[in-house]
Amino acid sequence: MSEELFKKLVSHAKKYGFIFQSSEIYDGLSAVYDYGPYGVELKNNIKEYWWKSMVQMHDNIVGIDSAIFMHPKTWKASGHVDAFNDPLIDNKDSKKRYRADVLIEDHIAKIEGKINKEVNKAKKRFGDDFDEEKFRAEHPRVQKYLTQIKEIQERMGASLSAGDLEDIKLLIEELGITDPASGSRNWTEVRQFNLMFNTQLGNISGEEGKLYLRPETAQGIFVNFLNVQKTTRQKIPFGIAQIGKAFRNEIVARQFIFRMREFEQMEMQYFVQPGKEMEWFDYWKEHRMKWHKALGTSDDKLRYHDHDNLAHYANAAVDIEFKFPFGFKELEGIHSRTDFDLSSHQELSGKKLQYFDPEMNENYVPYVVETSIGVDRMFLAVMTNAYTEEMVPDASGGEAERVVLKIPAALAPIKAAVLPLVKNKEELTTKAKEVFDKLKLFFNIQYDEKDAIGRRYRRQDAIGTPFCITIDFETLDDNTVTVRERDSLDQDRMHIDELAHYLEKHTNISTLLTKLI
Ligand code: ATP
Repeated sequence: MSEELFKKLVSHAKKYGFIFQSSEIYDGLSAVYDYGPYGVELKNNIKEYWWKSMVQMHDNIVGIDSAIFMHPKTWKASGHVDAFNDPLIDNKDSKKRYRADVLIEDHIAKIEGKINKEVNKAKKRFGDDFDEEKFRAEHPRVQKYLTQIKEIQERMGASLSAGDLEDIKLLIEELGITDPASGSRNWTEVRQFNLMFNTQLGNISGEEGKLYLRPETAQGIFVNFLNVQKTTRQKIPFGIAQIGKAFRNEIVARQFIFRMREFEQMEMQYFVQPGKEMEWFDYWKEHRMKWHKALGTSDDKLRYHDHDNLAHYANAAVDIEFKFPFGFKELEGIHSRTDFDLSSHQELSGKKLQYFDPEMNENYVPYVVETSIGVDRMFLAVMTNAYTEEMVPDASGGEAERVVLKIPAALAPIKAAVLPLVKNKEELTTKAKEVFDKLKLFFNIQYDEKDAIGRRYRRQDAIGTPFCITIDFETLDDNTVTVRERDSLDQDRMHIDELAHYLEKHTNISTLLTKLI
């Protein structure tokens, strides 16, 4: 999908009530978005799919819902006060601010662009005989570019890990990186910028009353580890899952809901015996990929990416990347966090956070493997996959273009629309309303009688409704209706009494969950 189509997707999301810019009447607040009537349904369904796949499908995973505000010491222990920073650089001419690492990554993307150009040129030249893998491995110019990329990545990784910001600045200068807005090379020094938002408690002044908006939901799970373990009598290995808001004062806020300042995370911390973490890391890596693929996402749009630059708490980390319209980017992270968090909380709070393992007859601080995915990024991935412009047969025997969201039926905001064939025949509308009233007890459905049937189909296509149920004159005779399927446009005739079962079979979240077993 090109940038052009991405723009269309963003405007479609607004036009059809999925996503609005926050505070739009005041010209918006950057990197903050509101979900509209269809957006909230899709978002809730994504959350339900995740929650059920974790909590309902694993008898050793339980959920919690912890508060956004936490004791300020939490963030000292977790390392966020000291280390949750991004390297920031300002351009003195344009006064624009950038993440230094993103400027370098964008530079790398440009080199990748050059490689692709070479590949495409050769593809054209050699036609069917072209062996892309061999070309990439042997072509001298491509090899030169690949070496450049590797050198830049290694140097950036090492300097970031060592906190050597002077070298990051040097690297930007050596690569001749210019300000994307002004073309200027007049850069400030690189400095660290803490991404946590803070606010103040009403009844305590100064540093002691300083509260942070949580930058991740995970810490609410760590500090409740023993509460949950004891109250649910879980034995290791076991997991705690949570869905909730997180806040980050991102420097680069762009790409729609990909990078927001207020967003939602779905995180699961899995507590394991020390030494068993790599086994579970591999398990969750594979299981999470399965979860994505169960949605029908094609193999070429998902890939793993190992971290070169491990976070302060991790001994292994992998991202699941999705091919967004602007390239492959992180959708989910799977991290082996060792006992870093629990040990730090134990130390700073003075409270023991240990587990007595009856198998080993020993007390220890468990190790943790986490899976962490942004709801909003997942939403964008689902919309990217779904957005389709295509030609379909129209009523006059010709062809017409339609825009359809091919959202997996189990995630679709509206499961079915009930449509009387025409609106000014009372018998039809009465019958249609009867069908609607019956089905609405079980499914999120819509009744629509306005405009010609073709236009109503298009409206439902545009919001991704998998089924349209049409009530026509035959219905009045024999209680049968037509059910039109969104993607194939196939029309099935069935009895009204069969509808609930049919919709259940095709739109229930269990249609996805069964693929995970
Ligand atoms: P990035 O490198 O893209 O900033 P990250 O490595 O900081 O992401 P994590 O801390 O691993 O991200 O957070 C876990 C998940 O939360 C990410 O995979 C992503 O889906 C989501 N996420 C993180 N930051 C944001 C954000 N600003 N807006 C939306 N989703 C986010």
